Amino acid sequence: MVKKIQAVRGMNDTLPDQEYIWDFFEQTIRKWMAAYGYKKIRMPIVEYTDLFVRSIGEVTDIVEKEMYTFLDHLNGDSLTLRPEGTASCVRAVLEHNLLYMGPQRLFYSGSMFRHERPQKGRYRQFHQVGVEALGYSGPDIDAELILMCSDLWARLGISGVCLQISTLGSIESRKLHRSKLIKYLEKNLDHLDEDARRRLYKNPLRVLDSKNPEMQQIINDSPKILESLDKESLQHFEELQNILNEQGIKFEINPRLVRGLDYYNRTVFEWVTERLGAQGTICAGGRYDDLVEQIGGKPTPACGFAMGIERLLDLIVEQKKDIPASVPDVYVIHQGKGTAKQAWETVNHLRNQGLNAILHCGNGSFKAQMKKADSSGARFALIIGENEIKDGVVSVKYLRKRIKQVNIELLDAIKLIKGT
Ligand code: ATP
Ligand code: MG
Repeated sequence: MVKKIQAVRGMNDTLPDQEYIWDFFEQTIRKWMAAYGYKKIRMPIVEYTDLFVRSIGEVTDIVEKEMYTFLDHLNGDSLTLRPEGTASCVRAVLEHNLLYMGPQRLFYSGSMFRHERPQKGRYRQFHQVGVEALGYSGPDIDAELILMCSDLWARLGISGVCLQISTLGSIESRKLHRSKLIKYLEKNLDHLDEDARRRLYKNPLRVLDSKNPEMQQIINDSPKILESLDKESLQHFEELQNILNEQGIKFEINPRLVRGLDYYNRTVFEWVTERLGAQGTICAGGRYDDLVEQIGGKPTPACGFAMGIERLLDLIVEQKKDIPASVPDVYVIHQGKGTAKQAWETVNHLRNQGLNAILHCGNGSFKAQMKKADSSGARFALIIGENEIKDGVVSVKYLRKRIKQVNIELLDAIKLIKGT
């Protein structure tokens, strides 16, 4: 026997029986984004490696060990499968001069790739919806983005998601915090793991992002960014909290929230749940006021977030029980001389009338065809036999209700199936 080829580790198929949840999610996202005036943008899955190195930061988990980077053998370019969407989105906005028309409210959805250890809620190909507001200095837009998330949880029918916020301050206040942090970490050198020692001078903030359980005490006791804040950032943070309070959004200030990417400043936030075990962050974001300039644009304030679709779908499946699966309206069966041609015409007619119709293919006995009709999930079977053709009718059988089969004209059958 030939050896079977399997999917790449950490990269999943979505089978048809799961599709209804994705479908519900995607439809909800589309309506939600339209309600807030955010427009969809689609970027390529592959970018020049340099884009991510420059934006996410050289000394981050993503760039150091998680990116799928490869040489394009045809021309020697270093390319990378996108590990996140913000950098690509900003690149596209600049490339097409969208900011020339004023601030932009944008969103995207698609696959992201990170070479991580696969486990529940953590995959190598995963999916995100990202939302970016470019050209707004906040804090009102920061609040809008957060409020929108809260609205989305309601639309998706999920609860038990908590908001954590913090601020990273300005570049200057980060410098001050950085020097305090380095001093503190130097004093605790014995307790730092290898990653932390390597990052100590290059990117000490990253030490605080460590997931190593043995590092958590050191991190907890470290100097807090909130204690080094500049006046404007403090004011920005307070105004954000005021809006959230006014709008009745509960939150917790988590001074340990540093995010895994370097481009953030000021507001950062995460939505977390305890229902998913270790992988509890379903949505994360913040301000990135320097990124546009870093990628080659004019200084432009911006804020955004991304949510992990797989983790959200797990929550939806657990909590929302009334998502309708999409089933065909009608399954068309035919048997006897001259019935095939009639069946082709009938399904066309049904489809032109807006019904979802499956035509039985592959012949088979009447009983076998009825079995297929039943397992298709369709609500009705429509039967075309020689007698029906002779009488100018079709037989309609209710597949999900105990109601007697009827022989009626096709136009009446359509009305019946449509429920009018
Ligand atoms: P984590 O701390 O869980 O590694 P992160 O800070 O690396 O997350 P972000 O880059 O902020 O994640 O991505 C935003 C969201 O995308 C996360 O909150 C999570 O829901 C989802 N996500 C990130 N990495 C993965 C992954 N490998 N598999 C599935 N979902 C992911
Ligand atoms: Mg990560």
